Amino acid sequence: MKLSSRITSITGGGSDGWDVFYRARRMIAAGIPVTELSIGEHDIRTHPDILGAMQASAMDGHTGYATVPGTDSLRATIAARITARTGVPTTSANILVTPGGQSGLFAAHMAVCDQGDTALFIDPYYVTYPGTIRAVGAMPRAIVTSPDRAFQPTAADIAAAAPGAVSLLINTPNNPTGAVYSPQTLSNIARVCQDHDLWLISDEVYDTQVWEGMHISPRALPGMTDRTLVVGSMSKSHAMTGSRIGWVCAPEHVIAHLLNLATHTTYGVPGFIQDAAEFALKQGADVEETVAAPFRRRRALTLRTLEGQNMIRALPVEGAMYAMLDIRATGLTSADFADALLDAEHIAVMPGESFGDGAAGHIRVAMTIDDDRYVDALRRLVRFASRCKAPR
Ligand code: PMP
Repeated sequence: MKLSSRITSITGGGSDGWDVFYRARRMIAAGIPVTELSIGEHDIRTHPDILGAMQASAMDGHTGYATVPGTDSLRATIAARITARTGVPTTSANILVTPGGQSGLFAAHMAVCDQGDTALFIDPYYVTYPGTIRAVGAMPRAIVTSPDRAFQPTAADIAAAAPGAVSLLINTPNNPTGAVYSPQTLSNIARVCQDHDLWLISDEVYDTQVWEGMHISPRALPGMTDRTLVVGSMSKSHAMTGSRIGWVCAPEHVIAHLLNLATHTTYGVPGFIQDAAEFALKQGADVEETVAAPFRRRRALTLRTLEGQNMIRALPVEGAMYAMLDIRATGLTSADFADALLDAEHIAVMPGESFGDGAAGHIRVAMTIDDDRYVDALRRLVRFASRCKAPR
C-alpha cells in the first residue's frame, strides 16, 4: 500500500546530523558514561508547586474534554502577559492554546501556507523547521545566515529569497545559534515582510532567556500585528517540556480558523495541564528568571572558560540555552570533530551541520548540565581541540 508523499517526505531523507546523539545514547545504554551537551532541556524538573496545581485541578475533576481553543482564563492570562510584555493590545480572541510550541509551529504554517507554497526559514534552524513546513504540504526555502554577522539575517538575503514565498519563520532568541535579533534586524525583517506581503511566523519560545540586548516581539513593530503569528510555549520558560503546552497568538480571524484545525486534530489540551500553566504564569516574572538563571550563569562560565586560547571561539551567546562554538581552527569538519570528541573524551555535542549549512564548522553545546561538570567538559573540549591541530 502506498503512503502519502506528504507523510513520507517530511524529513527529506539522508543523514540528519543526529548520528553522534544516537551513538552517545547507545554508549550510555552500554554503561559507558557520556557527558551530554546535546540536549535542549533543563537539568531541573517542573516546580513542585506547578505540579501541585496540576494535581489539584485533576482531583477537582478537570479531566474531561477541555474547551478546544483553551480555557477562557488561560487564554486571558496569556493575552494579558503578551500585552504587558509587548504593549500590543491582545485579548483571548487572539490566542489558541496548543499542545506545545511545536504544534503551534505546525498550526501557524497550516494557517498561511497552501499546498506547494514556498515558506521561508532562517538557517541555522531548529531541527523541525523544514519538516514542519513539508508536513503542511509547503516547500521550505532556507535563508542562510553567517557566523561573521553573528547569524543575524540581512535585509538583502531575505529580500532575495522572498519572491514567490508566502511566509517567513524566524526564531529569536535563537536555537541553535544563541543570537538575539537586534532592533535593526527586526525592522529589516518587518520591512521585507511588508514589501513582499509575507506572513511572519515568530517563534518566541525562548523569550525569557535573554542575556544580552532585549527581546523584541516583531508583532509589536509598525504594520506587523496583522501579519504576524507568534508561537509561544511553557516548555522553556517554566521547565514544562513534558506538559506539552504552548500557544499561537495571531489576528482574531486567523485564530477562528485555527480553532477549526484544533477541533479536527488535537481537540485541545488537557484541562489540568492548562490550569497548571495558568498557575505558573500567574507566579510572575521572578519564577521565569529563576528557571532561566542556570543558563545565564553557565553562559558567563562558557565565556570565562574559553578565554586565553584560540582553538575554540564562542559566538556571542545572547540568549537561549545553547552556545555555538567555532571549531574551524582545528581543521576538522564539525561532524568529524563531534565524532572524535565522543570517542576520545566521551562528550556528546551537536555538529553544526545538523542545523543547516550556516552552522558548518561549528558545534552546538547545550548548557544543560550542572556547572562543575559543564566547566570540566568545556576544558576537556578545549584540550581535545588543541590536540587536533596547532593554531593557525
Ligand atoms: N522552537 C524552538 C526554537 C525550540 O527549540 C523548541 C524546542 N526545543 C520548540 C520550538 C518546541 O518546543 P515545545 O514544543 O516543547 O514548546
